[in-house]
Amino acid sequence: MGQACVSVDLDGLRCYRDIHGLSAPRAQLNGGQGADAAYSIGVRRLLDFFDAERLPATLFVIGRDLEVDAHSSLLLEAHEAGHELANHSYSHHYDLRTRPLAEQEREIARCEEAILELTGRKPTGFRTPGYNVDASLLAICRSRGYLYDSSIFACPPYYLAKGAVMSWLSLRGRPSRSQMTRPQTLLAPLAPYFPDEKRFWRDSQRGYGLLEMPMAVVPGVRFPIIGTSLHLLKELGFDAVYPLIRRAQPRHFNLEFHAIDFMDSNDEGVADLVGIQPDLAVPWTTKRARYAHVFARLREHYRFATLEDTARSF
Ligand SMILES: [Zn+2]
Repeated sequence: MGQACVSVDLDGLRCYRDIHGLSAPRAQLNGGQGADAAYSIGVRRLLDFFDAERLPATLFVIGRDLEVDAHSSLLLEAHEAGHELANHSYSHHYDLRTRPLAEQEREIARCEEAILELTGRKPTGFRTPGYNVDASLLAICRSRGYLYDSSIFACPPYYLAKGAVMSWLSLRGRPSRSQMTRPQTLLAPLAPYFPDEKRFWRDSQRGYGLLEMPMAVVPGVRFPIIGTSLHLLKELGFDAVYPLIRRAQPRHFNLEFHAIDFMDSNDEGVADLVGIQPDLAVPWTTKRARYAHVFARLREHYRFATLEDTARSF
């Protein structure tokens, strides 16, 4: 039996507005200390859903979100329920990898301290914002004693789409705060590996150090298998590609979601995002049934575990 990891990046709705150069609705600017709907609705739902599924997940937390009480109490509940809280940087800068080294270190350290303060436990895993990883970020994780990084998403269709959205926005005078990912990321292995210290997309063949746990893509065509794409594939499409992935990665399946994948267009606070995040049109009840189907298939060949527990077994 392999191990399947479900991870969720807890990106607030502001992250989507940053990518698309949108400003926050007026109601959310006033005060600013209110809970983000990605938490009050998305995280609430996923905790209840994973509890019903008896599924231990890894939640990638943006450190500064812990300054809002409503967020930190949900995450304390998640920690007590056995979910792993991992590091998704303090501010979620999409261009973190090109910022000064001292700032990269500070972004990782401040999120780590916020999680430690909440749970009494230091996180052991990191995922960079926007899949935008580089050797410098991995070196910082190594020096801080992290077990793993899970930022590699070797998916050409994603990069083409990201490039197209960014050029379109800049032509319209609405520059995105996102940043293109290093293209070498596409050369990385699909299965977990120990990255070379400089050429992070290469396996160093040294069975120690920081483990990289890439996100799932279909071998060959490299179609992404993440929360959003499950709604393009639907149940039949997932069943069709699942044997390919299982054959390519019998030991490890890394399925990534975002908090917004647990929301729909009827939810409060998402009205301005429906046009740019088309799967918000899929009702939560449909999403829930679809994820349950995927989890049931995975259970045939994999045991669910957090990324941290899985990293320890490599
Ligand atoms: Zn993120």
